Amino acid sequence: ISASEMANLMDVSPTEVVAKCFSLGLMVSINQRLDAEVIELVASEFGYDVKFVGLEDQLDEEEEEVDDPEELKPRAPIVTIMGHVDHGKTSLLDYIRNANVVSGEAGGITQHIGAYEVTTASGKKVTFLDTPGHEAFTAMRARGAKVTDIAVIVVAADDAVMPQTREAISHAQAAGVPMIFAINKIDKDGANPQKIYEQLSQMNILVEEWGGKFQSQEISAKKGLNIDLLLEKILLEAEILDLKANPDREASGTIVEATLDKGRGYVATLLVLNGTLKQGDIVVSGQYFGRVKAMFNERNQKIEQAGPASPALLLGLNGAPQAGEKFKVYEDESEAKQAAYKRGQIMREQGMRARKHITLDEIGRRLALGNFKELNVIIKGDVDGSVEALSDSLEKLSTEEIVVRVILKGVGAVSENDVTLASASDAIIIGFNVRPNQQAGRLAENEGIEIKQYSVIYNAINDVKAAMEGLLEPKV
Ligand code: GDP
Repeated sequence: ISASEMANLMDVSPTEVVAKCFSLGLMVSINQRLDAEVIELVASEFGYDVKFVGLEDQLDEEEEEVDDPEELKPRAPIVTIMGHVDHGKTSLLDYIRNANVVSGEAGGITQHIGAYEVTTASGKKVTFLDTPGHEAFTAMRARGAKVTDIAVIVVAADDAVMPQTREAISHAQAAGVPMIFAINKIDKDGANPQKIYEQLSQMNILVEEWGGKFQSQEISAKKGLNIDLLLEKILLEAEILDLKANPDREASGTIVEATLDKGRGYVATLLVLNGTLKQGDIVVSGQYFGRVKAMFNERNQKIEQAGPASPALLLGLNGAPQAGEKFKVYEDESEAKQAAYKRGQIMREQGMRARKHITLDEIGRRLALGNFKELNVIIKGDVDGSVEALSDSLEKLSTEEIVVRVILKGVGAVSENDVTLASASDAIIIGFNVRPNQQAGRLAENEGIEIKQYSVIYNAINDVKAAMEGLLEPKV
């Protein structure tokens, strides 16, 4: 907002705002738009607290008639499978995909569209996000989407609770999504589920067998052992969650994937979260809109409509929205066009001042504003020893005011995935004797993520420490 708009909100004269800015060392004109930080500072000078309403809130302000509880019907749960690499996520998704094609349904699942729906033996439906791992989960969360109802955490019984297992658990916990543990590969010699339960208990996660609240199921994704039981546990969890939606209204939901297809134009997979999407509906998602020309399911069959928790591949949008973007049906085409245009405008404006992520230099300012409590760090390095040493030393820098949290550490180059996680969790990335690969570098630049590179541990610690001490003495 501009200086004069801000003055209006605070019921003071614009010149007072401008004068206050001068006194803070800022030359502004009445119609100049002010930075978030300036707004906060000036407001506090006038005795106001500022609450910023995010882009999503601005866009959702038209929203959304609330459903009459009478019209709500149970809907299928939407499930994400997460866990450490090679513990069997893909195998599990593949097995469920292939095994649960109910007889009478023509054809198996023939195409990867980012999500699929299965019918269990008991006749109930479950929808799976068809991208294993927490990458997609995190990317969607970075856009503010909450599409997962239940997370299945896969742990190989012949291995152990591994770094990405922990990561998956903390992602699910951060998102407030209930977890079910699938202890996989029990067909293997050396499989030891009890060991896994014990390691989980050390993280304060007690499975039911151990008297805790978390459901778990021993399975073999490869042999198809006990998968039916896992699905029943998913349905039980869903029952507890009491998931409901109103199928008799215009659809809204989230984009799962979208691309430009040479033959078909823009193609988007979406998940309907409420309402029913029908052929011919006018859809707005982000800055794009269009009429539903055709819809397909994961079996490549044409469908006329998609209800709550159903995935659908949609043709007809005039662009490719990002994964995690919301969509909504409009009754009126020109209204839809306008909404899309307005979103485009807001996005362009906000894009210039891209969502500001943390950097070492930024820490001092944020602490001065009094809203900085936690520094999230991702560490990648060339050898395990130095990664561990650096991680320990950085966490030890934590003070009562600021907690340093290493949310991910590992050996290898800084990857795109690291940058996405940094973006979702507002973290800085430290590369120790490693560089970002090209895509990661580019993504980091786009997302405004700081990647600091070091080859001396001491220097890395010193920089972070200095930044944090900057925090401790507000400069403003
Ligand atoms: P992801 O990286 O978590 O997606 O793991 P994958 O599904 O690709 O599995 C990694 C390896 O473990 C593959 O070679 C699978 O065949 C194997 N695997 C997965 N599940 C099982 C299982 O239940 N039993 C056995 N013996 N091997 C499995």
